[in-house]
Amino acid sequence: MIPNGFQYHRASNLQEALSMLAKHEGDAKLLAGGHSLIPAMKLRLNQPAHLIDISRLEELKGIKEDSGMLHIGAGVTHGEIAHSKLVKDKIAMLAEAADLIGDVQVRNVGTIGGSLAHADPAADWPALMLATEAHIDLLGPKGERSVAAEDFFTGFYMTDLGEDEIITRIRIPIPPAGTSTSYQKFMQPASRFAIVGCAAMITRTNGTCEQVRVAFTGVSDKPYRAKNIESALTGKSYSAESIEAAITGAAEGVDVMSDHFASEEYRSHLARVYAKRALNAAN
Ligand SMILES: Cc1cc2nc3c(=O)[nH]c(=O)nc-3n(C[C@H](O)[C@H](O)[C@H](O)COP(=O)(O)OP(=O)(O)OC[C@H]3O[C@@H](n4cnc5c(N)ncnc54)[C@H](O)[C@@H]3O)c2cc1C
Repeated sequence: MIPNGFQYHRASNLQEALSMLAKHEGDAKLLAGGHSLIPAMKLRLNQPAHLIDISRLEELKGIKEDSGMLHIGAGVTHGEIAHSKLVKDKIAMLAEAADLIGDVQVRNVGTIGGSLAHADPAADWPALMLATEAHIDLLGPKGERSVAAEDFFTGFYMTDLGEDEIITRIRIPIPPAGTSTSYQKFMQPASRFAIVGCAAMITRTNGTCEQVRVAFTGVSDKPYRAKNIESALTGKSYSAESIEAAITGAAEGVDVMSDHFASEEYRSHLARVYAKRALNAAN
C-alpha cells in the first residue's frame, strides 16, 4: 500500500517541533521510528498532511539515573534499552522486555516514546510503565506536565497526550533493594506483539512480599494493573502456593478481548499462566 501524499519536515530542536505542530494543527504527526505510524499511513488509517521528524533530536535521547529515578528519553530505541547496563542493573525487566520487541530492525529504530504515544493494546511498554509506576513527561504550548502511567492510557489506541504535545521522557522510580522483576509474554509468532504480556515486580523482606505490582498488556483494550493479584500476595510469603492462589484474579473485572489470535476464554487463561510465569521468574 502507498500512503497519501504528505509534506516532510525535520525539526532541529523540540521548540521547533512544537511550533510545527501548532502551525499544522490537527493535520500533522510526529515521526519517531516510523514503525507504527508508517504502516498505519500505508493502510490509510492515518493520513496526516505533514510529518514532523523528531528522530534526530538530541533532547529526546539518553538514559540516566537522577534522584532515585531512571530517566529514559522518549527518542531512545528499544534496542538501546535492551543493551543498557544501567537499565539491566536497576530494573532488569525493562531490558528483558525491550529485547522481546519485534525483530532487530524494529528494536534498532522504534522508540519507547513512539510506542507509548501509539498505545497499541498489544504493545509491551504500557504494562511495564504501569508496573513500575512510571511518569510520562510531556511538553506542549502551555509548558511541561507529567502524567502518571496509570492515567496516561485511556483506551484502545488512546492516551492523555494532546495533539499539540510531545512526550519528552519517561521517569521511572528505581525500586528498593530486595526487589525482583520479570516480564513474560505470549507473543504473536510473526510480529512478536503481545497476545498477553505480564510485568511483575516484587519487593521482599525475609521471604515476605512487602510490595507487589503486576500489570498486563494484550488482555484488554488498554493495559491494567492486576490489583487482585497484588493484594492477594502482599504480606504473604513468596511461595508456589501463594502465587497459585493469587493468579486466579488475573483477568477478573476486565473486559477481555477476543480476536482471531485468542478467544476471550483463552486470553483469560493465558493471563493466569503468564502471571504465574512472571511472578515465578521475579525471584
Ligand atoms: C514488524 C513489527 C513488529 C513489532 N513488534 C512489536 C512488539 O513485539 N512489541 C511492541 O511493543 N511493539 C512492536 N512493534 C511496534 C514498534 O515497537 C514501534 O517502534 C512502536 O510502536 C512505535 O515507535 P516508533 O518510534 O516507531 O513511533 P512512530 O511510528 O514514529 O510513531 C507512532 C506514533 O507515536 C507518535 N509519536 C512518536 N514519538 C512521539 C513523541 N515523542 N511524542 C508524542 N508522540 C510521538 C507519532 O506521531 C505516531 O502517532 C512492532 C512494529 C513492527 C513494524
